[in-house]
Amino acid sequence: MATDIRDIIKATDAYNLHAHTQYCDGRDTMDAIAAAAQEAGMRYFAFTPHSPLPIVSPCNMDMDKVGEYYARTDKLRELYNGKMELLRSFEVDYLGPDFGPHIDWFQKAPLDFRLGSVHFVPNQEGIWFDCDGRFERFAGYVKDAYKGDLRYVVEKYFEQVLTMIERGGFDLLGHFDKIAGNASEAWPELEDEGWYEALVDDVVSHVASTDVVVEINTKAYADKGRFYPAERWWGKLIAAGVPIAFDSDAHWASKIEAGRAEAMEKFAQLKKKY
Ligand SMILES: [Zn+2]
Ligand SMILES: [Zn+2]
Repeated sequence: MATDIRDIIKATDAYNLHAHTQYCDGRDTMDAIAAAAQEAGMRYFAFTPHSPLPIVSPCNMDMDKVGEYYARTDKLRELYNGKMELLRSFEVDYLGPDFGPHIDWFQKAPLDFRLGSVHFVPNQEGIWFDCDGRFERFAGYVKDAYKGDLRYVVEKYFEQVLTMIERGGFDLLGHFDKIAGNASEAWPELEDEGWYEALVDDVVSHVASTDVVVEINTKAYADKGRFYPAERWWGKLIAAGVPIAFDSDAHWASKIEAGRAEAMEKFAQLKKKY
């Protein structure tokens, strides 16, 4: 039985609870990532492939690979037994009441914990589009699929995050303002808007009423100089007393620690003021 992630984040900084491999859109194998994690001195390391979905998505694991993924995790656990604890998880999207971390399939799956993240946002006709990934693709979706209504996309994204929290069934909330990455490229003052901040406040108060751990996702820090959630909202999380995990969301073995030390240092500095 693996250790609870709430205990892991209290016990040590030598963890990473969010990583992708060959089983979804990661660029390295589980073996290569595990070796890099040990090399980096990690005590706990989690695999979080993008889970199978009921809609077509090239970034997600195929259902027929699930057994192989479980077997590979078991093998690696044996290999690293006593040196590093490997956790098995999925990064699960929320696609409405019928699909999300809360459904039976994920509740019964042999996982150590569940990571809940929103990447897909339904348009005005209820068709799902992946709003993560390259800005050019996102901008095309906003123009053609969402009728040019960027505020709709942002509000709908947060609605997905909020309903996912309400439905529950997950332990770790992934990059809860990720939409701001692409959306703020099109609308640079987006995060200064009062209505936007109110959405963030809603997420923080919702999550603070649960035992869910909130992730500070450090993947984009080197390239974009920002974290998810953005640094400007960290004070709200500290004030709400929400448990925090610092995760690299690595897709490459060479990036398993990307931005983690910087985020932890900044967070510790800020926490002194509270
Ligand atoms: Zn994600
Ligand atoms: Zn991820």
